[in-house]
Amino acid sequence: MYLVEHFYSIQGEGRYTGTPSVFFRFGGCNMKCEGFGCKEKASDGAEVLGCDTVYAVNKEHFSYTWAQIQSHKELLQVLELYELPEAVDIVLTGGEPLIYAHDEIFVLFLQKLRERGHKITFETNGSLGVDFEKYPVYKECIFALSVKLSNSQEPFTKRVRGDVLHTIAYNAKEAFFKFSIDAASIDLGLEEEISTVIMHAPATQVYCMPLGGSKEELQSNTEPLIEFCKAKGYIFSDRLHIRVWDQNKGV
Ligand code: SF4
Repeated sequence: MYLVEHFYSIQGEGRYTGTPSVFFRFGGCNMKCEGFGCKEKASDGAEVLGCDTVYAVNKEHFSYTWAQIQSHKELLQVLELYELPEAVDIVLTGGEPLIYAHDEIFVLFLQKLRERGHKITFETNGSLGVDFEKYPVYKECIFALSVKLSNSQEPFTKRVRGDVLHTIAYNAKEAFFKFSIDAASIDLGLEEEISTVIMHAPATQVYCMPLGGSKEELQSNTEPLIEFCKAKGYIFSDRLHIRVWDQNKGV
């Protein structure tokens, strides 16, 4: 299991926007999402294509910066590095944190967090199954389902797993959908794409966020997205970390 980075900030997106939270970013993902077109330079000079967290996805080029975790205690010790309010929220992100969903170290970490009263939110692409019966701790967790759309260029059958979405939505403590949307795709069948995803968990709230790796890009997508949310009854969510710090890394 690999940990890429950790930081203490406020949740920038979705239902708990503004809530102080410790973020654990785990390394590795079951997708590449090269359609997002973000490029990051690795130490070997290679320009690696992927999403805005490609440095947490691409093991081949970036794992030299990742810490290999051997015990749940190493993860818990991270919390001692910060001055934190009691039972601060914990956000588990990536990459895709649920590639470790059935790893004993990971599950033990979750159990210990819950014993200490922390609220746990997964930022997940919603494509990997979770065994709620074998690991009941997942029933006490919140799942932000950031299901990928066609602009990710991942195959439909890989990114939209109706069985997984259904199981998570009906077993987790809370679940909500969260989509990053740019103004151009609003006119390109986006509405239908979203409907195809959310039909698997119909009672689940939908949050839409403006796409953008910079403040400027975010701003250009904001107003068209607000109009889209008004028309569809979806909830607009800002991306505070980009609005405030103009970046998506370590904040
Ligand atoms: S699923 Fe998420 S973390 Fe994985 S490659 Fe796609 S956008 Fe990046």
